[in-house]
Amino acid sequence: MIDLAQDPRSLWPDHLSSAEMKFLLEVERFVARQVAPHAEAWERKEELPRSIFTQAGRVGLMGMVVPRRLGGQELGYAAYALAIRELARHQAALAIDVAAHNALATGHILGNGSPAQLQKVFPRLVNGDWVGAWALTEPEAGSDSGGVQTTAVERRPGRWELNGFKRYITLGRKADVLVVMAASGVTDKGRKEISAFLVERSQIKPLRKVPTCGLRASETSEFRLVKARGELLGVRGGGQHAALACLDKGRIGVAAVSLGLARAALDAALQHAVTRKQFGRRLADFQAIQFMLADCETELRAAELLVLQAAILANRGVPHAKESSVAKLFASEAASRICNRSLQIHGGYGYTRDIPVERYWRDARLSEIGEGSSEVQRIVISRALLKSADESLAGVR
Ligand SMILES: Cc1cc2nc3c(=O)[nH]c(=O)nc-3n(C[C@H](O)[C@H](O)[C@H](O)COP(=O)(O)OP(=O)(O)OC[C@H]3O[C@@H](n4cnc5c(N)ncnc54)[C@H](O)[C@@H]3O)c2cc1C
Repeated sequence: MIDLAQDPRSLWPDHLSSAEMKFLLEVERFVARQVAPHAEAWERKEELPRSIFTQAGRVGLMGMVVPRRLGGQELGYAAYALAIRELARHQAALAIDVAAHNALATGHILGNGSPAQLQKVFPRLVNGDWVGAWALTEPEAGSDSGGVQTTAVERRPGRWELNGFKRYITLGRKADVLVVMAASGVTDKGRKEISAFLVERSQIKPLRKVPTCGLRASETSEFRLVKARGELLGVRGGGQHAALACLDKGRIGVAAVSLGLARAALDAALQHAVTRKQFGRRLADFQAIQFMLADCETELRAAELLVLQAAILANRGVPHAKESSVAKLFASEAASRICNRSLQIHGGYGYTRDIPVERYWRDARLSEIGEGSSEVQRIVISRALLKSADESLAGVR
């Protein structure tokens, strides 16, 4: 685990228990043995084997923050972020799938499920037997989560029927259980009432795996709901609020994917810079290259500290929407810049598919879009800033 084991300046260990350190060492072993050797083959096949999720579940990666009484690991968010980062360093498609399963699908059920619903999904959802997906996005509901057009109608007490179309859903067609956001009515204020529903795989009509620029082995899918049975998850009308709360945690995971990709790209750039010679000198001897490396290191260190800050606040259980957005915004944009510089340092070699640097570059791009684009993060951050400015002004008056 790169800077835990080797770098005495790393601040992460100060925020990890010994059980978390032990877990992370196991993750490192799992990634080295079961993931890294297959990363390129999965990328070429554009698919991850279902068995890797089962294996990940056995290691504890599928229920990282879930309490032990439900079969989970009960980890904090710093350990969670480091585990996702380690996966992403080798296979970001797997990292994003594991992150979406943990923070979105599992997180939403954990935070809102009835005792009967928890009993239904746990421990299968954390031990690798099941994978979960979380479906908010639709053609009319992207950045604007209130635009959901999938409908949910209560045919009989407790019997909900869902109809609609969901797109860009990570693990959508593979999931055994899905959390689906749908419009269940109209609020007193005349707005769409959005609720969350627990839907089993048998109820969805899988459509295509969407071809994507990066993260090609990840299952980004479309599916239809036609008279699908769903169980209300949480309170009626609470779906949008619960979804946004999941995103506060989810964004820590996406930021951690960015950290892993940026770390892999920077390591590759360093390796290349000290071995490749031009004009009779190592690339690393040219100041233009040194400055690119310095910028990569500075941005990566800053991104790590922002992710750690959001994780510490999440561990404390205090509101951290702004800090998660800050971490995701900075880490994702920094990762894109770092991967881009790494590709540049590799020259033509970087643009080939003989080495994974072009994959890192393509994979990194998603983090600026998924779980709220960079523009949406800037909206969240500026709203939080302006709200506190308004409040302090009101206090002065
Ligand atoms: C690989 C992948 C995996 C995904 N996984 C999931 C998943 O598991 N579950 C799920 O529900 N969704 C998932 N998504 C969807 C993802 O969350 C959305 O793509 C994202 O929120 C952006 O929505 P959109 O694509 O509709 O873009 P749009 O909302 O149409 O935005 C287009 C552009 O306009 C900008 N924009 C929009 N509104 C504003 C505004 N008010 N101010 C300024 N700029 C604005 C955006 O920032 C963006 O640049 C996934 C997407 C991808 C590509």
